[in-house]
Amino acid sequence: MTDPLRHDSIRSAACADDYDPNSMTVADARAFIDRFVAPLGEAQRLALRAALGHVLAEDVVSPFNVPLADNSAMDGYALRHADVDGRDEVTLTVVGTAFAGHTFAGPIGAGECIRIMTGGVVPAGMDCVVPIEHTRLATPENRDRVVFRGGIRRAQNLRYAGEDIREGSVVLRRGQYLRPAEIGLLASLGIGEVTVFRRLRVALFSTGDELVSIGSPLHQGQLYDSNRYTIYGMLVRMGVDVIDMGVVRDDPAAIEARFAQAAACADVVITSGGVSVGEADFIKQMLDRMGEVVFWKIAMKPGRPLAYGRIGRAHFFGLPGNPVAVMVTFYQFVREPLWKMMGRDPLPLLPVFKATCSAALKKLPGRTEFQRGVLSAAPDGSWQVRPTGEQGSGILSSMVQANCFIVLPQAQGDVAAGTEVDVQMLEGLI
Ligand code: AMP
Ligand code: MG
Repeated sequence: MTDPLRHDSIRSAACADDYDPNSMTVADARAFIDRFVAPLGEAQRLALRAALGHVLAEDVVSPFNVPLADNSAMDGYALRHADVDGRDEVTLTVVGTAFAGHTFAGPIGAGECIRIMTGGVVPAGMDCVVPIEHTRLATPENRDRVVFRGGIRRAQNLRYAGEDIREGSVVLRRGQYLRPAEIGLLASLGIGEVTVFRRLRVALFSTGDELVSIGSPLHQGQLYDSNRYTIYGMLVRMGVDVIDMGVVRDDPAAIEARFAQAAACADVVITSGGVSVGEADFIKQMLDRMGEVVFWKIAMKPGRPLAYGRIGRAHFFGLPGNPVAVMVTFYQFVREPLWKMMGRDPLPLLPVFKATCSAALKKLPGRTEFQRGVLSAAPDGSWQVRPTGEQGSGILSSMVQANCFIVLPQAQGDVAAGTEVDVQMLEGLI
């Protein structure tokens, strides 16, 4: 796929009048990033099982009708409607049996029918199936003379060839994410290999002198690097190949070297920390030399500082350091661009819906807030949401308790209890 971008475009777009890097709205930042992200477009052939969790790079056409032949939806008898039409009671002679996988190939004359099982092929000329429970034997000792009651409709209990999928029709489109259902559908068509987009390679590292890796003791003023684990988790859930590049000290030479290494081996580089006002300056100068990166203060909470751009050919997302801000900004600004690069079409947006907020919420107008919420069904079946309590951007346990974000739009002020709010579901995210 061709690169639609000129190399200076991120920088020049960032200078456009309608973008204020010191007060970007969530929507503007999302739209900005979206302009610079395109599908990688590199495809590979994979065996069906290996293709699970990949994005299809080709339209898949059905090689045959599904079902292959007209067949029965019931256990019962296949017969000619003309033999029973308009009659209250008719006795027919059973001349054979069609099981699923065992076709009846003999002749069936007037006044005759066959026994048929669910999935059994309905022979040519037979145009309805009567379930066994709507029939009785003419005499107990002869199982081949069967009495049918009236009211039988033509075509009843038949599944027609091609009723599910027509031969030659597109069953799965390029851009489709392959889940168990899609893998099963492909298997049902006898397709053992598919062309999918290759996995995205994402390199990731944390910055900060205060960070300690698991396994080393923790001293006063230090903390364990958790962001690398949360980001790793969110990436692995998306089927991304993660290149974990550890923790880097707040040292310009070390950071520059790690950026160069990351950009050389990955499609995307994600960092956490180091983009806030106090720290951004030297990183800014460095990244200006290495590529083109814009630094924003986003009108949102949590997650104000964010950097986006390119280092070499790699896309770069500089996420804030605070653990909750990392998750919020990943879901709002990184997730969809990654799916887009992976070729997913249509893009799976975070499901948003309305719920009644059971508690009052403090909210300042002028920024979008993503409060952590617990969504549940009210006794009347409607959705209700409550905040998880303490909402500080460093409080990762609020994400542990949450199953959704309560999204409060920029202009919104305080929220009274009982008000409808937007929620973004986080449960089961892939
Ligand atoms: P920074 O954006 O680098 O100024 O970091 C903001 C806050 O997030 C600081 O309190 C850091 O200690 C914390 N922080 C930064 N990186 C991490 C990390 N990888 N894991 C956990 N906390 C972090
Ligand atoms: Mg830092």
